[in-house]
Amino acid sequence: MNFNAIYYEPASLDYILGMELKQKYANLPWIPIESHNRIEEMTSKPNSEFNKMKKNLIIGVRKTHKYVDNQKISDFLVPYTSSGCSASCLYCYLVCNYNKCSYLRLFVNREKMLGKIIKTANTSDNPLTFEIGSNSDLILENTITKNLEWTIENFKNTKNGFLTFPTKFDMVEPLLKLDHKGKVIFRMSVNPDYIIKKTEFGTSSLQNRIEAANKMCEAGYKTGILIAPIIQVEGWEKMYSELITILAEGLSEKVKKQLVIECIFMTYSFVHRAINEEAFPNAIDLYSKDKMTGGGRGKYYYKQELKLSGEEFLRKELQQKLGEAEILYFC
Ligand code: SF4
Repeated sequence: MNFNAIYYEPASLDYILGMELKQKYANLPWIPIESHNRIEEMTSKPNSEFNKMKKNLIIGVRKTHKYVDNQKISDFLVPYTSSGCSASCLYCYLVCNYNKCSYLRLFVNREKMLGKIIKTANTSDNPLTFEIGSNSDLILENTITKNLEWTIENFKNTKNGFLTFPTKFDMVEPLLKLDHKGKVIFRMSVNPDYIIKKTEFGTSSLQNRIEAANKMCEAGYKTGILIAPIIQVEGWEKMYSELITILAEGLSEKVKKQLVIECIFMTYSFVHRAINEEAFPNAIDLYSKDKMTGGGRGKYYYKQELKLSGEEFLRKELQQKLGEAEILYFC
């Protein structure tokens, strides 16, 4: 991956990964920063610079290790080895947290983060599932740090527990040969091709995502699908109906036999609108005054009746075409 500059906390060079990254990107400018959370040079930039800002890589030491309870696919959302992303999905949920500073940040103290997961898993009476990919895309991050490979190798002998992460990328090759011991749940996020091209800039194509899901399942990983986010643009029913047909035809029998599906309607926000209007003036407008309602803190959700009729429609499509799959939830 090509970056323009590295902004780094000097303490990150006390870690092996920090030094490896220093060598890897030796030919780029390295700019010291006090904290990855406060880079004034970045916060003062206009929204129109959003994309350019994503060409910088931020390296630091993660200080917050607080888990968030989760009742969907995992027991906990865990802050892990990165936050932010170098891709630019117009609705990216990370923009809600980091605003225009949702560029990729890498945290080099991975031993501490994985150590806490293993300790929590081993002291629990029940098997726990840790969502490690809620702050970034770990398949993308792995192309820079190899952190996923390192994580799987070092987690596999944990007696109790699972790791899980979603992705919109197809670079799974380095994971296929790993001895993961069934401890990792891989979840591929998909959308109709039109939505990917118009809103998920810099991510993998639908076809490549399906192939990656098949390969991961073949390599023994539990493999799920997220249809997310569901965006109710003009003609969305036809697009999502076609998507489900493509999944039914393209996913291997092995994936379909064990398939769990999560369905998530898009949440949008005032901040997304402000950034997208300036950074992507020619992109489609995902905000709809007629279809959305304000949910507080500047967020917009599809109206309840639209979500309910959308769910009904998609459940029927999934039942017809991927009847064996378990639909875990709609939200
Ligand atoms: Fe955000 Fe995921 Fe898109 Fe990256 S791939 S911009 S993390 S939604």
